[in-house]
Amino acid sequence: MLSTMQDVPLTVSRILTHGSTVHGESEVITWTGADPHRRTFAEVGRRAAQLAHALAGLGVGEGSPTGTLMWNNAEHLEAYLAIPSMGAVLHTLNLRLPAEQLTWIVNHADDRVLLVNGTLLPLLAPLLPRLPTLEHIVVAGPGDRSVLDGARPEVHDYEELLAGQPERYDWPELDERAAAALCYTSGTTGDPKGVVYSHRSVYLHSLQVNTAEAFALSPRDIALPVVPMFHVNAWGLPHAAFMAGASLLMPDRFLQPAPLAEMIETVRPTIGAAVPTIWQGLLGELDATRRDVACLETVIIGGSACPPVLMRGFEERHGIRVVHAWGMTETSPLGSVAHPPAGATGDEEWAYRTTQGRFPASVEPRLIGPGGETLPWDGESAGELEVRGPWIAGGYYGGADGEVQRPDDKFSPDGWLRTGDVGTITPNGFLTLTDRAKDVIKSGGEWISSVELENHLMAHPGVAEAAVVAVPDDKWGERPLATVVLAEGATAGYEELKAFLGERIARWQLPERWALIPSVPKTSVGKFDKKVLRRQYADGELDVTRFGA
Ligand code: ADP
Repeated sequence: MLSTMQDVPLTVSRILTHGSTVHGESEVITWTGADPHRRTFAEVGRRAAQLAHALAGLGVGEGSPTGTLMWNNAEHLEAYLAIPSMGAVLHTLNLRLPAEQLTWIVNHADDRVLLVNGTLLPLLAPLLPRLPTLEHIVVAGPGDRSVLDGARPEVHDYEELLAGQPERYDWPELDERAAAALCYTSGTTGDPKGVVYSHRSVYLHSLQVNTAEAFALSPRDIALPVVPMFHVNAWGLPHAAFMAGASLLMPDRFLQPAPLAEMIETVRPTIGAAVPTIWQGLLGELDATRRDVACLETVIIGGSACPPVLMRGFEERHGIRVVHAWGMTETSPLGSVAHPPAGATGDEEWAYRTTQGRFPASVEPRLIGPGGETLPWDGESAGELEVRGPWIAGGYYGGADGEVQRPDDKFSPDGWLRTGDVGTITPNGFLTLTDRAKDVIKSGGEWISSVELENHLMAHPGVAEAAVVAVPDDKWGERPLATVVLAEGATAGYEELKAFLGERIARWQLPERWALIPSVPKTSVGKFDKKVLRRQYADGELDVTRFGA
Protein backbone atom coordinates (compact mmCIF):
# COMPACT_ATOMS: atom_id res chain seq x y z
CA MET A 1 0.00 0.00 0.00
CA LEU A 2 1.31 3.44 -0.84
CA SER A 3 0.96 6.26 1.64
CA THR A 4 -1.46 9.08 1.06
CA MET A 5 1.09 11.75 1.98
CA GLN A 6 2.02 14.62 -0.31
CA ASP A 7 5.37 14.26 -2.02
CA VAL A 8 6.96 17.68 -1.59
CA PRO A 9 10.63 17.80 -2.59
CA LEU A 10 13.00 18.78 0.23
CA THR A 11 14.96 21.59 -1.41
CA VAL A 12 17.34 24.35 -0.38
CA SER A 13 14.93 26.93 -1.87
CA ARG A 14 12.45 25.93 0.87
CA ILE A 15 15.06 26.70 3.52
CA LEU A 16 15.75 30.03 1.80
CA THR A 17 12.09 31.02 1.50
CA HIS A 18 11.28 29.99 5.06
CA GLY A 19 14.28 31.72 6.65
CA SER A 20 13.90 34.95 4.72
CA THR A 21 10.20 35.34 5.55
CA VAL A 22 9.33 33.68 8.86
CA HIS A 23 12.75 34.57 10.29
CA GLY A 24 13.23 37.72 8.21
CA GLU A 25 14.45 39.70 11.22
CA SER A 26 17.25 37.30 12.14
CA GLU A 27 20.62 38.54 10.99
CA VAL A 28 23.86 37.53 9.40
CA ILE A 29 26.56 39.59 11.06
CA THR A 30 29.93 39.74 9.33
CA TRP A 31 32.98 40.79 11.33
CA THR A 32 35.01 43.38 9.44
CA GLY A 33 37.92 43.83 11.80
CA ALA A 34 36.64 46.82 13.72
CA ASP A 35 32.89 46.49 13.83
CA PRO A 36 30.19 44.13 12.67
CA HIS A 37 28.25 44.51 9.41
CA ARG A 38 24.61 43.44 9.80
CA ARG A 39 22.16 42.14 7.20
CA THR A 40 18.73 40.64 7.94
CA PHE A 41 17.64 37.26 6.61
CA ALA A 42 14.93 39.14 4.67
CA GLU A 43 17.66 41.13 2.91
CA VAL A 44 19.65 37.93 2.33
CA GLY A 45 16.54 36.48 0.68
CA ARG A 46 16.18 39.49 -1.65
CA ARG A 47 19.87 39.54 -2.47
CA ALA A 48 19.93 35.78 -3.08
CA ALA A 49 17.22 36.32 -5.69
CA GLN A 50 19.27 39.13 -7.25
CA LEU A 51 22.36 36.93 -7.26
CA ALA A 52 20.45 34.11 -8.95
CA HIS A 53 19.27 36.49 -11.70
CA ALA A 54 22.80 37.82 -12.12
CA LEU A 55 24.30 34.32 -12.31
CA ALA A 56 21.63 33.23 -14.80
CA GLY A 57 22.76 36.21 -16.89
CA LEU A 58 26.29 34.78 -16.83
CA GLY A 59 25.05 31.46 -18.14
CA VAL A 60 24.68 29.56 -14.88
CA GLY A 61 21.87 27.04 -15.29
CA GLU A 62 20.56 23.86 -13.74
CA GLY A 63 23.43 21.54 -12.85
CA SER A 64 26.21 24.14 -13.41
CA PRO A 65 28.95 23.76 -10.81
CA THR A 66 29.63 27.29 -9.53
CA GLY A 67 32.68 27.89 -7.40
CA THR A 68 33.15 29.99 -4.27
CA LEU A 69 36.57 30.96 -2.95
CA MET A 70 35.38 32.89 0.08
CA TRP A 71 35.65 33.40 3.81
CA ASN A 72 32.63 33.01 6.09
CA ASN A 73 30.57 36.15 5.40
CA ALA A 74 27.14 37.39 4.30
CA GLU A 75 27.91 37.18 0.58
CA HIS A 76 29.02 33.58 0.94
CA LEU A 77 25.74 32.83 2.71
CA GLU A 78 23.84 34.41 -0.21
CA ALA A 79 25.75 32.18 -2.62
CA TYR A 80 25.07 29.15 -0.40
CA LEU A 81 21.34 29.71 -0.71
CA ALA A 82 20.99 31.19 -4.22
CA ILE A 83 23.15 28.76 -6.21
CA PRO A 84 21.41 25.49 -5.19
CA SER A 85 17.97 27.15 -5.13
CA MET A 86 18.28 28.09 -8.80
CA GLY A 87 19.26 24.49 -9.58
CA ALA A 88 23.01 25.07 -9.95
CA VAL A 89 25.64 23.38 -7.78
CA LEU A 90 27.50 25.30 -5.08
CA HIS A 91 31.15 24.27 -5.19
CA THR A 92 33.06 25.51 -2.15
CA LEU A 93 36.83 25.75 -2.60
CA ASN A 94 39.29 25.36 0.25
CA LEU A 95 41.45 28.47 0.09
CA ARG A 96 44.22 26.83 2.13
CA LEU A 97 44.93 24.06 -0.34
CA PRO A 98 48.21 24.07 -2.26
CA ALA A 99 47.89 25.75 -5.69
CA GLU A 100 48.23 22.44 -7.47
CA GLN A 101 45.26 20.85 -5.70
CA LEU A 102 43.12 23.96 -6.03
CA THR A 103 43.61 24.12 -9.80
CA TRP A 104 43.05 20.37 -10.11
CA ILE A 105 39.74 20.70 -8.24
CA VAL A 106 38.40 23.66 -10.26
CA ASN A 107 39.27 21.87 -13.49
CA HIS A 108 37.82 18.56 -12.36
CA ALA A 109 34.57 20.23 -11.28
CA ASP A 110 34.49 22.21 -14.54
CA ASP A 111 33.61 25.48 -12.79
CA ARG A 112 32.66 28.23 -15.28
CA VAL A 113 31.84 30.95 -12.78
CA LEU A 114 33.77 31.65 -9.61
CA LEU A 115 32.74 33.93 -6.74
CA VAL A 116 35.76 35.18 -4.85
CA ASN A 117 36.46 37.57 -1.99
CA GLY A 118 38.59 40.57 -2.96
CA THR A 119 41.01 39.78 -0.16
CA LEU A 120 41.73 36.41 -1.82
CA LEU A 121 42.59 37.76 -5.28
CA PRO A 122 46.37 37.59 -4.67
CA LEU A 123 45.86 33.86 -4.13
CA LEU A 124 43.66 33.40 -7.20
CA ALA A 125 45.44 35.61 -9.76
CA PRO A 126 48.54 33.42 -10.26
CA LEU A 127 46.35 30.34 -10.78
CA LEU A 128 44.25 31.82 -13.60
CA PRO A 129 46.46 30.69 -16.51
CA ARG A 130 45.89 27.13 -15.30
CA LEU A 131 42.10 27.47 -15.02
CA PRO A 132 40.88 27.25 -18.63
CA THR A 133 37.24 26.44 -17.78
CA LEU A 134 36.63 29.72 -15.94
CA GLU A 135 34.62 32.27 -17.93
CA HIS A 136 33.55 34.73 -15.20
CA ILE A 137 34.97 35.89 -11.90
CA VAL A 138 32.69 37.74 -9.49
CA VAL A 139 34.57 39.69 -6.83
CA ALA A 140 32.87 40.40 -3.49
CA GLY A 141 33.92 42.59 -0.58
CA PRO A 142 37.04 44.68 -0.02
CA GLY A 143 40.39 44.02 -1.69
CA ASP A 144 42.54 45.41 -4.45
CA ARG A 145 41.00 44.41 -7.81
CA SER A 146 43.99 45.59 -9.84
CA VAL A 147 45.75 42.21 -9.51
CA LEU A 148 43.19 40.97 -12.04
CA ASP A 149 43.97 43.67 -14.61
CA GLY A 150 44.34 42.00 -17.99
CA ALA A 151 43.16 38.66 -16.60
CA ARG A 152 41.46 36.37 -19.08
CA PRO A 153 38.08 35.47 -17.56
CA GLU A 154 35.66 38.37 -17.43
CA VAL A 155 35.75 40.12 -14.04
CA HIS A 156 32.58 41.47 -12.36
CA ASP A 157 31.93 43.29 -9.12
CA TYR A 158 29.45 41.44 -6.90
CA GLU A 159 27.49 44.52 -5.85
CA GLU A 160 27.36 45.96 -9.38
CA LEU A 161 26.14 42.64 -10.68
CA LEU A 162 23.31 42.51 -8.12
CA ALA A 163 22.27 46.17 -8.48
CA GLY A 164 18.97 46.57 -10.31
CA GLN A 165 18.22 42.83 -10.49
CA PRO A 166 14.69 41.75 -9.45
CA GLU A 167 14.35 40.94 -5.74
CA ARG A 168 12.25 37.87 -6.39
CA TYR A 169 13.17 34.71 -8.27
CA ASP A 170 10.81 32.01 -9.33
CA TRP A 171 12.77 29.15 -7.77
CA PRO A 172 12.33 26.00 -9.87
CA GLU A 173 10.72 22.91 -8.34
CA LEU A 174 13.71 20.58 -8.38
CA ASP A 175 14.16 16.86 -7.87
CA GLU A 176 15.21 16.60 -4.24
CA ARG A 177 17.86 14.04 -5.23
CA ALA A 178 19.54 16.51 -7.60
CA ALA A 179 22.97 17.90 -6.72
CA ALA A 180 22.93 20.97 -4.45
CA ALA A 181 26.57 21.29 -3.41
CA LEU A 182 29.98 19.84 -4.14
CA CYS A 183 32.87 19.66 -1.69
CA TYR A 184 36.21 17.94 -2.23
CA THR A 185 37.97 16.14 0.60
CA SER A 186 41.37 17.60 1.34
CA GLY A 187 43.02 14.66 -0.37
CA THR A 188 45.75 13.70 2.07
CA THR A 189 46.34 10.67 -0.14
CA GLY A 190 45.85 10.68 -3.91
CA ASP A 191 43.69 13.16 -5.78
CA PRO A 192 40.96 15.00 -3.86
CA LYS A 193 37.57 13.33 -4.01
CA GLY A 194 34.35 15.21 -4.70
CA VAL A 195 31.36 14.60 -2.47
CA VAL A 196 28.07 15.75 -4.02
CA TYR A 197 25.32 16.64 -1.55
CA SER A 198 21.69 16.52 -2.68
CA HIS A 199 18.91 18.95 -1.79
CA ARG A 200 17.34 16.18 0.22
CA SER A 201 20.54 15.42 2.14
CA VAL A 202 21.11 19.10 2.95
CA TYR A 203 17.51 19.51 4.11
CA LEU A 204 17.45 16.41 6.30
CA HIS A 205 20.89 17.20 7.70
CA SER A 206 19.72 20.73 8.62
CA LEU A 207 16.73 19.31 10.47
CA GLN A 208 19.04 17.01 12.40
CA VAL A 209 21.48 19.82 13.29
CA ASN A 210 18.53 21.62 14.84
CA THR A 211 17.41 18.78 17.09
CA ALA A 212 18.37 18.62 20.75
CA GLU A 213 20.38 15.51 19.88
CA ALA A 214 22.71 17.84 18.01
CA PHE A 215 22.93 21.63 18.41
CA ALA A 216 19.28 22.67 18.85
CA LEU A 217 19.54 26.06 17.12
CA SER A 218 16.64 28.46 17.69
CA PRO A 219 15.84 32.12 16.94
CA ARG A 220 17.29 32.97 20.37
CA ASP A 221 20.74 31.82 19.21
CA ILE A 222 23.56 33.56 17.44
CA ALA A 223 25.77 30.87 15.90
CA LEU A 224 29.44 31.51 15.23
CA PRO A 225 30.78 29.08 12.61
CA VAL A 226 34.54 29.53 12.86
CA VAL A 227 34.80 26.31 10.88
CA PRO A 228 35.09 27.55 7.29
CA MET A 229 32.17 27.37 4.89
CA PHE A 230 34.54 25.50 2.56
CA HIS A 231 35.05 22.78 5.19
CA VAL A 232 32.00 20.51 4.83
CA ASN A 233 29.53 23.40 4.61
CA ALA A 234 30.70 24.85 7.93
CA TRP A 235 29.31 21.64 9.46
CA GLY A 236 25.85 22.48 8.13
CA LEU A 237 25.42 25.53 10.37
CA PRO A 238 24.54 28.10 7.65
CA HIS A 239 21.64 26.03 6.30
CA ALA A 240 20.51 24.92 9.75
CA ALA A 241 20.64 28.46 11.18
CA PHE A 242 18.67 29.85 8.24
CA MET A 243 16.08 27.14 8.75
CA ALA A 244 15.78 27.72 12.51
CA GLY A 245 16.06 31.51 12.40
CA ALA A 246 19.28 31.54 14.43
CA SER A 247 21.39 34.57 13.60
CA LEU A 248 24.88 33.95 12.27
CA LEU A 249 28.10 35.68 13.27
CA MET A 250 30.53 35.27 10.40
CA PRO A 251 34.22 35.82 11.25
CA ASP A 252 35.35 36.49 7.65
CA ARG A 253 39.17 36.34 7.64
CA PHE A 254 39.60 37.25 11.33
CA LEU A 255 40.33 33.80 12.71
CA GLN A 256 43.09 34.55 15.20
CA PRO A 257 42.39 34.25 18.94
CA ALA A 258 42.33 38.01 19.73
CA PRO A 259 39.80 39.07 17.04
CA LEU A 260 37.71 35.99 17.80
CA ALA A 261 37.55 37.02 21.45
CA GLU A 262 36.71 40.57 20.44
CA MET A 263 33.86 39.57 18.13
CA ILE A 264 32.46 37.27 20.81
CA GLU A 265 32.50 40.12 23.33
CA THR A 266 30.89 42.53 20.86
CA VAL A 267 28.28 40.45 19.01
CA ARG A 268 27.61 37.94 21.82
CA PRO A 269 27.10 34.61 20.03
CA THR A 270 25.58 31.76 22.03
CA ILE A 271 27.15 28.84 20.18
CA GLY A 272 30.40 28.41 18.25
CA ALA A 273 31.95 25.63 16.17
CA ALA A 274 35.55 24.89 15.17
CA VAL A 275 38.34 22.30 15.17
CA PRO A 276 40.33 21.86 18.42
CA THR A 277 43.34 23.93 17.30
CA ILE A 278 41.19 27.07 16.92
CA TRP A 279 39.61 26.62 20.35
CA GLN A 280 42.99 25.85 21.87
CA GLY A 281 44.14 29.28 20.67
CA LEU A 282 41.03 30.99 21.99
CA LEU A 283 41.35 29.29 25.36
CA GLY A 284 44.91 30.62 25.64
CA GLU A 285 43.64 34.12 24.82
CA LEU A 286 40.83 33.89 27.39
CA ASP A 287 43.23 32.61 30.06
CA ALA A 288 45.68 35.44 29.39
CA THR A 289 43.29 38.38 28.96
CA ARG A 290 40.09 39.14 30.84
CA ARG A 291 37.24 38.94 28.36
CA ASP A 292 33.48 38.86 28.82
CA VAL A 293 32.49 35.74 26.91
CA ALA A 294 29.69 34.65 29.23
CA CYS A 295 27.30 34.80 26.25
CA LEU A 296 28.88 31.69 24.77
CA GLU A 297 26.90 28.77 26.14
CA THR A 298 28.19 26.04 23.87
CA VAL A 299 31.30 25.39 21.86
CA ILE A 300 31.16 22.52 19.36
CA ILE A 301 34.46 20.79 18.79
CA GLY A 302 34.98 18.27 16.03
CA GLY A 303 37.16 17.49 13.06
CA SER A 304 39.74 15.77 15.24
CA ALA A 305 39.67 14.30 18.73
CA CYS A 306 39.05 16.96 21.35
CA PRO A 307 41.63 16.72 24.16
CA PRO A 308 39.68 16.39 27.45
CA VAL A 309 41.93 19.05 29.01
CA LEU A 310 40.60 21.56 26.45
CA MET A 311 37.01 20.70 27.35
CA ARG A 312 37.64 21.05 31.04
CA GLY A 313 39.58 24.28 30.54
CA PHE A 314 36.63 26.00 28.85
CA GLU A 315 34.10 24.69 31.31
CA GLU A 316 35.96 25.03 34.60
CA ARG A 317 37.70 28.37 33.95
CA HIS A 318 35.19 30.13 31.67
CA GLY A 319 31.82 28.42 32.17
CA ILE A 320 31.55 27.42 28.50
CA ARG A 321 30.21 23.95 27.76
CA VAL A 322 32.10 22.02 25.10
CA VAL A 323 30.20 19.52 22.97
CA HIS A 324 32.32 16.97 21.14
CA ALA A 325 31.14 15.76 17.73
CA TRP A 326 32.41 13.47 14.99
CA GLY A 327 31.95 13.72 11.24
CA MET A 328 33.64 13.89 7.87
CA THR A 329 33.19 15.46 4.44
CA GLU A 330 31.48 12.27 3.31
CA THR A 331 28.94 12.48 6.16
CA SER A 332 27.70 16.06 5.50
CA PRO A 333 29.31 16.08 8.24
CA LEU A 334 27.02 15.36 11.18
CA GLY A 335 27.67 11.91 12.53
CA SER A 336 27.81 11.47 16.27
CA VAL A 337 27.42 14.06 19.05
CA ALA A 338 28.53 13.53 22.66
CA HIS A 339 25.58 14.52 24.84
CA PRO A 340 25.66 12.41 28.03
CA PRO A 341 22.71 10.13 28.81
CA ALA A 342 20.16 11.15 31.43
CA GLY A 343 21.36 10.68 34.98
CA ALA A 344 25.10 10.70 34.28
CA THR A 345 26.95 13.03 36.63
CA GLY A 346 30.51 13.77 37.74
CA ASP A 347 33.25 11.57 36.29
CA GLU A 348 30.72 9.36 34.54
CA GLU A 349 29.31 12.38 32.71
CA TRP A 350 32.80 13.52 31.70
CA ALA A 351 33.60 10.03 30.45
CA TYR A 352 30.58 10.18 28.12
CA ARG A 353 31.30 13.72 26.97
CA THR A 354 34.86 12.96 25.93
CA THR A 355 33.73 10.13 23.64
CA GLN A 356 32.77 10.94 20.03
CA GLY A 357 29.14 10.50 21.09
CA ARG A 358 26.00 8.85 19.79
CA PHE A 359 24.56 8.63 16.29
CA PRO A 360 21.10 9.93 15.34
CA ALA A 361 18.50 7.51 13.98
CA SER A 362 19.38 8.51 10.40
CA VAL A 363 23.03 7.51 10.69
CA GLU A 364 23.58 3.80 11.20
CA PRO A 365 27.00 2.71 12.43
CA ARG A 366 28.72 -0.66 12.44
CA LEU A 367 32.21 -1.81 13.45
CA ILE A 368 34.14 -4.14 11.20
CA GLY A 369 36.95 -6.31 12.55
CA PRO A 370 40.21 -7.20 10.81
CA GLY A 371 38.67 -10.33 9.23
CA GLY A 372 35.66 -8.43 7.87
CA GLU A 373 33.39 -9.59 10.71
CA THR A 374 30.83 -7.26 12.32
CA LEU A 375 31.88 -6.57 15.91
CA PRO A 376 29.59 -6.29 18.95
CA TRP A 377 28.82 -3.00 20.69
CA ASP A 378 30.51 -4.01 23.93
CA GLY A 379 32.69 -0.96 24.46
CA GLU A 380 35.79 -3.11 23.96
CA SER A 381 35.88 -4.67 20.50
CA ALA A 382 37.74 -2.21 18.27
CA GLY A 383 37.17 -2.13 14.53
CA GLU A 384 36.78 0.19 11.56
CA LEU A 385 33.69 2.35 11.72
CA GLU A 386 31.33 2.10 8.76
CA VAL A 387 28.17 4.21 8.39
CA ARG A 388 25.15 4.58 6.14
CA GLY A 389 22.24 6.98 5.97
CA PRO A 390 20.41 9.60 3.89
CA TRP A 391 23.18 12.23 4.22
CA ILE A 392 26.13 9.83 3.92
CA ALA A 393 28.04 9.67 0.60
CA GLY A 394 27.53 6.55 -1.48
CA GLY A 395 30.27 7.48 -3.97
CA TYR A 396 32.46 10.30 -5.31
CA TYR A 397 31.95 12.70 -8.21
CA GLY A 398 33.42 11.28 -11.40
CA GLY A 399 33.76 14.59 -13.28
CA ALA A 400 31.50 16.13 -15.93
CA ASP A 401 31.32 12.98 -18.09
CA GLY A 402 32.58 10.43 -15.61
CA GLU A 403 30.75 7.84 -13.59
CA VAL A 404 30.35 7.93 -9.82
CA GLN A 405 33.47 6.42 -8.21
CA ARG A 406 33.15 3.81 -5.49
CA PRO A 407 36.68 2.79 -4.54
CA ASP A 408 36.83 -0.46 -2.54
CA ASP A 409 38.82 1.11 0.28
CA LYS A 410 36.05 3.70 0.81
CA PHE A 411 32.86 1.72 0.23
CA SER A 412 31.97 -1.79 1.35
CA PRO A 413 30.47 -4.21 -1.18
CA ASP A 414 27.04 -3.58 0.39
CA GLY A 415 27.39 0.19 0.04
CA TRP A 416 28.41 1.40 3.52
CA LEU A 417 30.96 4.19 3.83
CA ARG A 418 34.28 2.99 5.24
CA THR A 419 35.35 5.88 7.44
CA GLY A 420 38.97 4.84 8.03
CA ASP A 421 38.41 5.53 11.73
CA VAL A 422 38.99 2.83 14.33
CA GLY A 423 37.08 2.63 17.58
CA THR A 424 34.60 0.97 19.90
CA ILE A 425 30.88 1.42 20.58
CA THR A 426 29.25 0.86 23.96
CA PRO A 427 25.98 -1.07 24.33
CA ASN A 428 24.17 2.28 24.67
CA GLY A 429 25.69 3.56 21.44
CA PHE A 430 28.63 5.79 22.45
CA LEU A 431 31.46 5.77 19.93
CA THR A 432 35.06 6.13 21.10
CA LEU A 433 37.61 6.56 18.34
CA THR A 434 41.06 5.34 19.22
CA ASP A 435 42.65 6.41 15.95
CA ARG A 436 42.49 6.82 12.24
CA ALA A 437 43.36 3.46 10.71
CA LYS A 438 46.45 4.99 9.13
CA ASP A 439 47.62 6.64 12.37
CA VAL A 440 47.29 3.66 14.67
CA ILE A 441 50.67 2.43 16.03
CA LYS A 442 51.15 -1.29 15.46
CA SER A 443 53.70 -2.31 18.06
CA GLY A 444 54.41 -6.04 18.14
CA GLY A 445 51.01 -7.71 18.04
CA GLU A 446 49.34 -4.81 19.85
CA TRP A 447 47.85 -1.50 18.81
CA ILE A 448 48.71 1.73 20.57
CA SER A 449 46.28 4.64 20.25
CA SER A 450 48.14 7.81 19.25
CA VAL A 451 45.13 9.86 20.36
CA GLU A 452 45.24 8.44 23.89
CA LEU A 453 48.92 9.29 24.27
CA GLU A 454 48.35 12.79 22.92
CA ASN A 455 45.44 13.44 25.26
CA HIS A 456 47.51 12.42 28.29
CA LEU A 457 50.49 14.50 27.19
CA MET A 458 48.34 17.56 26.56
CA ALA A 459 46.95 17.25 30.08
CA HIS A 460 50.46 18.07 31.42
CA PRO A 461 50.55 21.76 32.31
CA GLY A 462 53.90 22.24 30.55
CA VAL A 463 52.61 20.95 27.21
CA ALA A 464 50.85 23.18 24.68
CA GLU A 465 50.44 20.58 21.93
CA ALA A 466 51.53 16.99 21.40
CA ALA A 467 51.30 14.72 18.37
CA VAL A 468 52.25 11.06 18.45
CA VAL A 469 53.06 9.17 15.26
CA ALA A 470 54.14 5.64 14.39
CA VAL A 471 57.76 5.27 13.28
CA PRO A 472 59.47 2.09 12.03
CA ASP A 473 61.19 -0.02 14.68
CA ASP A 474 63.44 -3.05 14.06
CA LYS A 475 62.18 -4.99 17.03
CA TRP A 476 58.50 -4.08 17.25
CA GLY A 477 57.60 -3.11 13.69
CA GLU A 478 56.36 0.30 14.80
CA ARG A 479 56.81 2.36 17.94
CA PRO A 480 55.38 5.75 19.00
CA LEU A 481 57.37 8.95 18.49
CA ALA A 482 56.14 11.73 20.80
CA THR A 483 56.53 15.23 19.39
CA VAL A 484 55.86 17.93 21.93
CA VAL A 485 55.33 21.69 21.83
CA LEU A 486 56.06 23.15 25.25
CA ALA A 487 53.76 25.79 26.72
CA GLU A 488 55.23 29.29 26.91
CA GLY A 489 57.86 29.45 29.66
CA ALA A 490 57.56 25.71 30.43
CA THR A 491 60.70 23.66 30.93
CA ALA A 492 59.37 20.12 31.33
CA GLY A 493 61.95 17.57 30.17
CA TYR A 494 61.35 14.21 28.49
CA GLU A 495 61.99 12.28 31.71
CA GLU A 496 59.27 14.23 33.49
CA LEU A 497 56.80 13.85 30.61
CA LYS A 498 57.49 10.16 30.35
CA ALA A 499 56.99 9.70 34.09
CA PHE A 500 53.71 11.63 33.80
CA LEU A 501 52.58 9.31 30.99
CA GLY A 502 53.80 6.28 32.94
CA GLU A 503 51.22 6.97 35.64
CA ARG A 504 48.44 6.86 33.07
CA ILE A 505 49.19 4.18 30.47
CA ALA A 506 50.71 0.70 30.29
CA ARG A 507 54.53 0.62 30.37
CA TRP A 508 54.89 -1.02 26.97
CA GLN A 509 53.03 1.86 25.36
CA LEU A 510 55.48 4.50 26.61
CA PRO A 511 57.33 6.19 23.76
CA GLU A 512 61.11 5.95 23.80
CA ARG A 513 61.56 8.49 21.00
CA TRP A 514 60.88 12.14 21.80
CA ALA A 515 61.29 15.41 19.94
CA LEU A 516 60.57 19.01 20.91
CA ILE A 517 59.09 20.92 17.99
CA PRO A 518 58.10 24.61 17.66
CA SER A 519 54.55 23.78 16.52
CA VAL A 520 52.64 20.78 15.20
CA PRO A 521 52.24 20.99 11.40
CA LYS A 522 48.58 21.52 10.46
CA THR A 523 46.48 20.49 7.44
CA SER A 524 44.47 22.94 5.32
CA VAL A 525 41.58 22.62 7.76
CA GLY A 526 43.67 23.03 10.90
CA LYS A 527 44.14 19.40 11.96
CA PHE A 528 47.43 17.85 13.08
CA ASP A 529 49.27 16.81 9.91
CA LYS A 530 50.89 13.55 10.98
CA LYS A 531 51.94 12.75 7.44
CA VAL A 532 54.36 15.71 7.60
CA LEU A 533 55.73 14.58 10.97
CA ARG A 534 56.33 11.06 9.67
CA ARG A 535 58.16 12.47 6.66
CA GLN A 536 60.23 14.84 8.82
CA TYR A 537 61.24 11.89 10.96
CA ALA A 538 62.12 9.76 7.94
CA ASP A 539 64.19 12.61 6.47
CA GLY A 540 66.06 13.11 9.74
CA GLU A 541 64.69 16.65 10.16
CA LEU A 542 63.57 16.14 13.76
CA ASP A 543 65.96 16.37 16.69
CA VAL A 544 65.00 13.04 18.29
CA THR A 545 66.13 11.97 21.75
CA ARG A 546 65.92 8.25 22.40
CA PHE A 547 65.94 6.82 25.88
CA GLY A 548 64.55 4.04 28.03
CA ALA A 549 64.14 1.63 25.11
P1 ADP B 1 40.12 15.17 6.15
O1 ADP B 1 39.99 13.70 5.92
O2 ADP B 1 40.76 15.88 5.07
O3 ADP B 1 40.66 15.53 7.51
P2 ADP B 1 37.44 15.58 6.99
O4 ADP B 1 37.20 16.89 7.57
O5 ADP B 1 36.36 14.95 6.21
O6 ADP B 1 38.65 15.72 6.08
O7 ADP B 1 37.93 14.63 8.15
C1 ADP B 1 37.19 13.56 8.65
C2 ADP B 1 38.00 12.83 9.65
O8 ADP B 1 38.34 13.67 10.75
C3 ADP B 1 37.31 11.66 10.29
O9 ADP B 1 37.35 10.52 9.47
C4 ADP B 1 38.11 11.48 11.57
O10 ADP B 1 39.30 10.77 11.35
C5 ADP B 1 38.46 12.90 11.93
N1 ADP B 1 37.54 13.38 12.96
C6 ADP B 1 36.48 14.19 12.80
N2 ADP B 1 35.90 14.45 13.99
C7 ADP B 1 36.59 13.78 14.93
C8 ADP B 1 36.49 13.62 16.34
N3 ADP B 1 35.56 14.25 17.06
N4 ADP B 1 37.38 12.82 16.96
C9 ADP B 1 38.34 12.18 16.26
N5 ADP B 1 38.50 12.31 14.94
C10 ADP B 1 37.64 13.09 14.27
